[in-house]
Amino acid sequence: MIYNIDFETLPREAITAIQLKRLKATLENVYATVPFYKDMFRKARLTPHDIRSLDDLQKIPFTTKQDLRDNYPYGMFAVPMANVVRIHASSGTTGSPTVVGYTARDINTWAELMARALSAGGAHRGDIIHNAYGYGLFTGGLGVHYGAEKLGASVIPVSGGNTKRQIVIMKDFGPTILTATPSYSLHLAEVAKDMGISFKDLKFKFGIFGAEPWSESMRDELEETLNITAVDIYGLSEVMGPGVAIECHEAKNGLHIFEDHFIPEIINPETGEVLPYGETGELVFTSITKEAFPIIRYRTRDITSLHPEPCICGRTHIRMKRVSGRSDDMLIIRGVNVFPSQIESVLMKTDKIEPHYQLVVDRVDNLDTLTVKVEVSESLFSDEIKLLQTLEAKLSSDIKEYLGVSAKVKLVEPKSIARSEGKAVRVIDNRKI
Ligand SMILES: [Zn+2]
Repeated sequence: MIYNIDFETLPREAITAIQLKRLKATLENVYATVPFYKDMFRKARLTPHDIRSLDDLQKIPFTTKQDLRDNYPYGMFAVPMANVVRIHASSGTTGSPTVVGYTARDINTWAELMARALSAGGAHRGDIIHNAYGYGLFTGGLGVHYGAEKLGASVIPVSGGNTKRQIVIMKDFGPTILTATPSYSLHLAEVAKDMGISFKDLKFKFGIFGAEPWSESMRDELEETLNITAVDIYGLSEVMGPGVAIECHEAKNGLHIFEDHFIPEIINPETGEVLPYGETGELVFTSITKEAFPIIRYRTRDITSLHPEPCICGRTHIRMKRVSGRSDDMLIIRGVNVFPSQIESVLMKTDKIEPHYQLVVDRVDNLDTLTVKVEVSESLFSDEIKLLQTLEAKLSSDIKEYLGVSAKVKLVEPKSIARSEGKAVRVIDNRKI
């Protein structure tokens, strides 16, 4: 079902007309209210009136995570604090957190876009949504929550953690939609199994997974293990939160970006040059309806490509390919670029192994080493050591063949890699640089 049929099926000319009108208003607003943007325009010898077409957007410099940090906490806000009704912040694992704000209208817009997203992912009024995204400063939990209510679904605000209780709730409350990170969802399935409960006996139909990059092979695993249709959702707090883009369950082939609210671009991350449709590079977003925290040409660090071809679901909004990694998650091993999700794809071609893995990077005698720890099934682990060694060698040679990087594969016992209740920790980098 298409939640907002008027806006989600607009012809291309109408989308670009709306984008240009909203972009101009946004630029005039930030120029007048946010000193950071006024300076940016001045340094580029521009005023908002110089932006007369969508192509002119390319004249404006980028906004980076560092700019947000430099303006910590409220320097990027475009309205007085009296108009801000909600504040969220990123986890700040590196450097100070980024703080974002919302007016009442922003919260409403976000709820509308999340209602569109949940609907594209298979949810309807009357569905029961088990929302295991974390509630708190992280935008995941509350983002899904408001969208679910707007859609008219019943939402269970279970949040992350307390996994055994979650399983009991799943069994007793009969939720039909699961919203969670993909790694936590697989952990839920494991714990359920230990408690003697199969997802096949639960009522779930659809799962809407995001907040970490995941692969096409992970989709197969999730659909099989959880007995659902799995779709990918995308968002980031700097741009809004979850609900910037979503895969439709009909095509499951790229995420529709809500273009009446955001303008996406793909750039070459080295040169900043804008790339044509279909080419892979870094995703850049401009928000065109936000009041409290508008953002202009924000470099997301996420790597993807844009595809304008029509979709079988009827939505006309452009699709982005699932994010293959973040340019700052990218590992450089002996000069070769590797994303954890690429390793995941190779590992999951083998059915004897479990979708739990961790990459350990180190530097020994000035040489980078990559060890891939991956869990195998109970039965295999208790088998002969010889079989394990053969499988390790095979996976190692597959990684070399597909990705061009040498890795030592170490098969480990089931459940020996620490589980996370939010985003999975996929990489441990011990290099001292
Ligand atoms: Zn579609």
